[in-house]
Formats: sequence, structure tokens, C-alpha cells
Amino acid sequence: MAGLRIGTAGVPHSAKPQTTPNGVVRVAELGLQHMEIEFVHGVRMSEKTAYQVRELAERHNVSLTVHAPYYINLNSAEPEKVEASKQRILQAARIGAKAGAKSVTFHAAFYHEADPKQVYQVVKGHMEDMLAELAKHGVDIRLSPETTGGPTQFGTLEELVRLGQDLPGVFPCVDFAHLYARSLGELNTYEDFAAVLELISRNLGPEALQAVHIHLSGIEHGPRGEKRHVPLEETALNYRAVLQALVDFNVQGWLTCESPILEEDALILKGLYEELDQS
Ligand SMILES: [Zn+2]
Repeated sequence: MAGLRIGTAGVPHSAKPQTTPNGVVRVAELGLQHMEIEFVHGVRMSEKTAYQVRELAERHNVSLTVHAPYYINLNSAEPEKVEASKQRILQAARIGAKAGAKSVTFHAAFYHEADPKQVYQVVKGHMEDMLAELAKHGVDIRLSPETTGGPTQFGTLEELVRLGQDLPGVFPCVDFAHLYARSLGELNTYEDFAAVLELISRNLGPEALQAVHIHLSGIEHGPRGEKRHVPLEETALNYRAVLQALVDFNVQGWLTCESPILEEDALILKGLYEELDQS
């Protein structure tokens, strides 16, 4: 089996000039196999570029996922902000699907003062609307809300696994750095990471581990969770144990490295993953 396809969050720094098509080619040149298209500051890609990206990705054996804009809050008190959030996710999904991406991730919502159980129902309702909209237009891409890095944000692993149970076709995007930061550094052993994968497998079926959308990079946390992504060299996150668990559970899918030194760390993760996989 192909195992995990590891790559960068967006265009590698060494791609010149910095365009998505060049990014795909550069990812392959570097010996990586995956790129996440970063629409974090807005969905700006023409259909023509999307088809060009698709063709290059197929030719160079690079898989793709998408990160929708940061400005999303499905639990906003203002209906027009909720609607704009849904449109941003749908735009990212539509153009991403044209480019051949398999999964679109996003930070779904903030709790504000609401009970997380209520927020869950609100998010679930909007997710249902978006799934229906994508299905109506035959847009074939997975909606993958991401595990978030702080306690004010909707997106614990349990919430997202439950969304996956309630809404077939939805799977969590598992950001191990966020899980670690949100736990204030508590979740950091091999057993902890194995338990994450077990929870997914137990509730969404073992086949859920055959195509997981993963984020992994160094991170720094404070008393309120995530502060910022840092190079692997500077993090206390036990990323080696994360990779060991991914190997032991034979996880397949896409692993995006969101490090500030993108491809340098993606290559470290790939090297370590292969070393663990062969031993
Ligand atoms: Zn994210």
C-alpha cells in the first residue's frame, strides 16, 4: 500500500515563482507526494488554473487537499457571517474538487458563550446544508472539519468524530499539533496518539483509517492552547511517537506539514516515517 502521502501546507518556499502549479511540480521534485492548497486568506483560483493543477498533480503523482479560509464561524450570532462562512467553504470545495483535491478542511466555529452541545447542533445543521449543496451539484470532495488548537474553538476530536457518525461522508481532519496544544501538552505519548486512532476506528470504522486527512508540525502552546507553529526542531510535541502510531495502525491518507519551514520539515517527517515504517 501507498501508506501516508506527506507534503507541504501550500506552495513550497523553494518553488519559483510562488504559484500553485509550480508548487505541485516542486513538491514532486523534492520527493514529496502531497500538497495542501492553502485558501486560508481567500479562495482565489480560476477554473483554468484548477484544471492545470489537476493535470500536473496527476502527471507528477502528487495528491491534493484544500484548506478553506480562516474567516469561518458557523456559530456566529450574525446570520450573514454564517452564510459567508458556508459560501467560503463551498467555494473552496468546488474549486478544490476541480483541481482533483480529495478533502477540504476548515476550523468550523467558535463556542462564544454557548454550551458546546448547542454549538454541536448548530454546526451539524450547517454541515448538512453544505453536504446537500455539494451533492446536488455532484461535487466530489470530503468535508473535513479540523481538530482545533484552543478551548474557545469548536473542534475537539470527540465532537468531530461524532459529526462523522451523524453525517456520513464527514471525517475529522486530525491535527496532532492542535490536539497536543489544546491539551496544554498533556496529550503527547505514543499511547495518547494510539488512542486517537482507536477512537476514530471504533466510531467511524476501521476503513476510516484508510484515508485520513492529517496535519502535523511543530507547535508552541501557552495557557490557552495554540500559540504558533514552529519548526520541528523547536517543539516539545513528540512527533516521532505520532508517526510511530500512524505506522503501527497502518494509517493511509494525506499528511500536511504546516511548519514555518514547510518543505524542510515535511522532508524530515517523510524520512522519519519511512525509517519507522521499515523497522
Ligand atoms: Zn487549519
